[in-house]
Amino acid sequence: MTCRDVSGFLLEDVAGEIPAHLAGDFQRHVEACQSCRALRAQYEQTIASSRAAFAGEAETMEVPEDVVRLMMQTLPEARKG
Ligand SMILES: [Zn+2]
Repeated sequence: MTCRDVSGFLLEDVAGEIPAHLAGDFQRHVEACQSCRALRAQYEQTIASSRAAFAGEAETMEVPEDVVRLMMQTLPEARKG
């Protein structure tokens, strides 16, 4: 799994929806790759604050499009790997 792959699965991972057959590879890469680890921490924070803001409004929440767009803009150049 490359940094680009990982960045594509970050939302699923934070939402707990990453496919089981990919979870191992994903986890290994994130543990070994500092930039992906930092990026995931950033996602977790962003999602957590979104959840807090929307708490009580919906049981299952969709990530607001604005948040996704914001996060995509902060993605590092993920060319290595
Ligand atoms: Zn990486």
